[in-house]
Amino acid sequence: MKILLSVIFSILITVGHSQSDVDIVKETVDYNMIKGQIHFLALDALKGRDTGSPGLELAADFIMSQFRSFGVGYAPGMETYRQPVPLTLVTAPTSSSLQIAEQTLAVPDDFIILMADNVALSGETVFAGYGLDEDLATLDVKDKIIIANAGDGVAESPQAWFAISADKNALAKEKGAKAVIEIYSNTKAPYNFVKRFLNARDQLTVGPDENEDVLTHIMIDGSKEATVNQIKQNGTSIKINIDGVTKDEFSSDNLVGYVEGTDPVLKDEIVVYSAHYDHVGIGRADAVGDTIYNGARDNAVGATTVLSAAENIAAYPTKRSAIFILFTGEEKGLLGSQWYVDHSPVPLQDIVYCFNSDNGGYNDTSLASIIGLERTTAQPLIEKACSTFGLKAIEDPAKEQGLFDRSDNVNFAVKGIPAPTFSMGFTAFDEEIMKYYHQAGDSAESLDYDYLYKFFQSYVLSARLIGNAAERPFWLKGDKYYEAGIELYQGK
Ligand SMILES: [Zn+2]
Repeated sequence: MKILLSVIFSILITVGHSQSDVDIVKETVDYNMIKGQIHFLALDALKGRDTGSPGLELAADFIMSQFRSFGVGYAPGMETYRQPVPLTLVTAPTSSSLQIAEQTLAVPDDFIILMADNVALSGETVFAGYGLDEDLATLDVKDKIIIANAGDGVAESPQAWFAISADKNALAKEKGAKAVIEIYSNTKAPYNFVKRFLNARDQLTVGPDENEDVLTHIMIDGSKEATVNQIKQNGTSIKINIDGVTKDEFSSDNLVGYVEGTDPVLKDEIVVYSAHYDHVGIGRADAVGDTIYNGARDNAVGATTVLSAAENIAAYPTKRSAIFILFTGEEKGLLGSQWYVDHSPVPLQDIVYCFNSDNGGYNDTSLASIIGLERTTAQPLIEKACSTFGLKAIEDPAKEQGLFDRSDNVNFAVKGIPAPTFSMGFTAFDEEIMKYYHQAGDSAESLDYDYLYKFFQSYVLSARLIGNAAERPFWLKGDKYYEAGIELYQGK
């Protein structure tokens, strides 16, 4: 009897020990649970989860109550799941005018405002080529209004031109100029095309408002020859009046949970599982009059993948420790993740991997599309996890979209942390994706849950394989962020 009992006991222990990661995933990932979580996060009552809105706060309460029910703890050094992210809402001016000699110009037909605070200033022009370092080297621009051609004479795309604009602004400020006016003429994107998108609009920035001194930056239509000729003459007098810009500081929370690893050595290494839980709020009505942008795909699905991993790892911790993060402010410019990497409760070099999930939509239910799959050594683990549940893991099929740089993973990557983004299967950014991407119709009812069940199982198994692997993952040699990684983990 005694012998028999101990035999049974040892069999039980063996069975317990041999429970595989696959079994553990099957045990916790639940079809109806996933469906319920997505439906809640995409409810009309949450009004599109705009950053700073009561709807996003409700989503936060839900996520934290899920953390609690799974037994997820607080990150080291934190006494709550909330990490407040300070934000500043800068509204667009309500009125603005630009006077060149006797002529009065109008927004947005003649000029657009790229950067401004409320100002009433006047001054004289000085023409400075492209307004770059070499152009300003021998010019005295102090207290002058710099006139410059847009771009740098080399770059052709308007995106590049606007990036260069920010450098010009910083330089002009350093040299004591009063304002910068750029002359825009780009054949690829004519002024009449860009003016609709680029005129000053309400903007969210992260951190307390540090831009006390915004240097006024204006762009004028380069096709208006008379104006251009006049403004290029040094000493032309200019008056700029901008009014109605307001600044409102508030905060919105990242949500952070933690489960300690089981291995005495590997528990010092942390894997981050992350997704943004904000969306774009309320917007223009669609064909059926719907104004609530529910954001089921983007990114109730991603938030739910992280919840699935949290539930699983809280019940069955991996060898490595785990931090679960739901970011705010992603849609406003990756603001929550930017704040997180600069204010992480744990040292960044302890974070060995960031396994992010973000989604626009899907058009192929046999796939999981992983943005950055082929860039880290975790590739075979993720491929194996997906194939276990009948999905094929593929690398970003729409590189022209620049998706790697358009989600929270990139803020980790820039610091050197290997960080791909796990997304629902798509083969191209086609009509099927655009039908839902940032549209009011992106609702929980329009999702294929049989597919999502496999998708979540694949994510959670990938998480377990990465969290338990003998070797920590890293960037592949030659990757853009490989050197940043070497630097970050020096001596680790
Ligand atoms: Zn989005």
